[in-house]
Amino acid sequence: ECGSRINAASKSAAKTGQGPALTGRLFRDLPISQRTLRGLEASKYTKMTEIQSGAIPLALFGRDILGEARTGSGKTLAFLVPTVECLYRQNWSKMDGLGAVIVSPTRELAYQIYQVLINVGQEHEISAGCIVGGRSLSEEQQAVSNMSVLVATPGRLLQHLDESPGFDSSALLMLVIDEADRILDFGFQETIHNILGHLPTQRQTLLFSATLHSSVHKLGRAALRSPEVVSVHHNA
Ligand code: ADP
Ligand code: MG
Repeated sequence: ECGSRINAASKSAAKTGQGPALTGRLFRDLPISQRTLRGLEASKYTKMTEIQSGAIPLALFGRDILGEARTGSGKTLAFLVPTVECLYRQNWSKMDGLGAVIVSPTRELAYQIYQVLINVGQEHEISAGCIVGGRSLSEEQQAVSNMSVLVATPGRLLQHLDESPGFDSSALLMLVIDEADRILDFGFQETIHNILGHLPTQRQTLLFSATLHSSVHKLGRAALRSPEVVSVHHNA
């Protein structure tokens, strides 16, 4: 299931209960494709949250982002919308290799991000996969060589970068590091640095975290170039 084309699966996310605080700013006022807008609408996303309206326009402009907002504030779309748009604008295809990679601290979070990606990206022809281990490496190696976007845990991503012959990340456009504070809490600092060593330096990088501790800033200095800091502090 992890590894279908984006447009293959398209269940809209049923949302129940209270969602995050929304602003008056709309996704449809962003300079994004109709395909992405339709994907957002299919998932019932119309108004942006604070972190989304702060980060998405700057990311669409090509800036690196150091984003801070609490859990539940909508950080996933803050990086997925620019990621999908970036590949679409470049007319990215399977032939171009890996275009974007999203690093997440846990399998569960990676899979959640992947689900949002296939929903919001359902109108796009982008192949996406989720690599979190748990399957045989050789099985995954077949799949990763055809993926334009991967959502991955740090250890498994590094394993593929080190060991998978057909895995070409030399043209990568976008790196996303999600939940950077937890990635560091889990002891993945060196893994992330090794991942950075494999990736082209000419790329856009978006780093999101619930908190910007000094260790997160330090990672930011290694991964980001002249980032815009987008920090949302809420009582709500
Ligand atoms: P975070 O990563 O900051 O913890 P998520 O991206 O997981 O937050 O979003 C938290 C919840 O808010 C999810 O259920 C998501 O579907 C919902 N959500 C995010 N953005 C919006 C939006 N613009 N409109 C409505 N619901 C949203
Ligand atoms: Mg999140």
